[in-house]
Amino acid sequence: MPLYEHQELKIYNSLSGEKEVFQPLTNGYVGMYVCGPTVYSNVHLGNCRTFISFDLVFRYLKHLGYKVRYVRNITDAGHLENDAETGEDRIAKKARLEEIEPMEVVQKYTVDFHNILYKFNNLPPSIEPTATGHIVEQIEIIKEIIDKGFAYEANGSVYFDVLKYNESNHYGILSGRKLEDMIANTRELTAQDDKRNPQDFALWKKAEPQHIMRWPSPWSVGFPGWHLECTVMSSKYLGDEFDIHGGGMDLKFPHHECEIAQGQAATGKNPVNYWMHANMLTLNGKKMAKSTGNNILPKELFSGDNDVLSKSYSPSIARFFMLQANYRSILDFSDEALTAAEKGFHKLMDAIALAPSIPTNPNNSSSGIKEWREECYEAMNDDFNSPALIANLFKAVKFINHKIENKITILEEEKEILIKTLHDFTFDVLGLEAVTALENNQDSERLTNVVELLIELRAKARANRDFETGDKIRDELAANGIQLKDSKEGTTFSL
Ligand code: AMP
Ligand code: ZN
Repeated sequence: MPLYEHQELKIYNSLSGEKEVFQPLTNGYVGMYVCGPTVYSNVHLGNCRTFISFDLVFRYLKHLGYKVRYVRNITDAGHLENDAETGEDRIAKKARLEEIEPMEVVQKYTVDFHNILYKFNNLPPSIEPTATGHIVEQIEIIKEIIDKGFAYEANGSVYFDVLKYNESNHYGILSGRKLEDMIANTRELTAQDDKRNPQDFALWKKAEPQHIMRWPSPWSVGFPGWHLECTVMSSKYLGDEFDIHGGGMDLKFPHHECEIAQGQAATGKNPVNYWMHANMLTLNGKKMAKSTGNNILPKELFSGDNDVLSKSYSPSIARFFMLQANYRSILDFSDEALTAAEKGFHKLMDAIALAPSIPTNPNNSSSGIKEWREECYEAMNDDFNSPALIANLFKAVKFINHKIENKITILEEEKEILIKTLHDFTFDVLGLEAVTALENNQDSERLTNVVELLIELRAKARANRDFETGDKIRDELAANGIQLKDSKEGTTFSL
């Protein structure tokens, strides 16, 4: 029997503002869509946090035995410089600045995105569709929305009629915003505006002569509005109604609100059952963002090449740092927090490596390992509460260290459950990778070279009967966590 049959997963649904018991549309199957990156620059750690949050969701659903179809798009057209539908296309702008083709920009940053997420041990989605690969479908859905009376053409562009939609539906259902307030707080339209109302949003925009990313359509040579691609690609691969839609908190309005309106207008159905929003990674208390420059790039983290960092950190440490916070909480990035996470990470990994050495005895009474396993599930069933899960894994760390240090036995059966559960949750669900301290950063090669040089100098000193220098090298290394071991074959070291 699959695990989900006897686990009750609850998901915080942004639509209702409550934790709800997860019930997929088709028993045993989950359709999940997550908004992907706009590939016009390197992803920063903030972006990575959101994708790691949904990787956790994907991994846990799979662990529970669901067959998950996970769709995550690549935005390679239609996302203008500012979200209010003005300015240049972000990708076209980058292409102009770098003097390359827009599709070269797309290729370069899509490859970077994949490489980075692979380093963070994110699983690839089941389908990764692109906006430019779905222009035909976007034109078709615009026709449907116009036919249903919820969109209008003006000067070669097509706009979604928010006021008309709101007569029979609720625009603001996800974000909790009221249309009257939105109307009160927006500027008046100018003569250049083609929209009937400032709240209306573009489904299709006529291309200005300088706009190079353009396609023919019944209305003009132009390009689709940014919100449309996600409606089209989610419905194409998951159906008009599907289970989970995710994205960063900053996408809730207008992007996701518009997605609901588009789907509802085109099909008369509410497209998504569970809306999930991941919270932001901040730096110095401010959201990490591409546009402000307040961000850290993953490659800077892995090399330590940023003034904020005292050293380099491996992807697994950063992943562990992020998963120590709930995906719905804001998380502030700092070097101290990363260092603390690194310590915790190694403690956990060391205990997992030691667990097989716990002595066993068939005459023992239960140590409560089955109950502990249930607590791991309870944590994850509570809206993917990874910090609660990690706290529970640390209970096991304490347990393992205590048994080993004091040579206390447990039941063989419990030891097996302990080891399997630790592996399931640490590696499969949290997606952490066992890194030894030496593999854990890109400086490891340099470190090895330096330690080997010191070993050589120590050997020379000892050969010259300069034991004082020899001992000083050994003691200083030990004080820095590097142990030397002398044997007939020579001297080796460990961290
Ligand atoms: P973008 O490429 O800008 O569309 O962003 C890709 C994803 O990263 C979206 O889901 C954003 O919500 C998310 N994101 C952007 N900035 C941050 C941040 N500072 N922390 C967490 N997620 C973010
Ligand atoms: Zn989207």
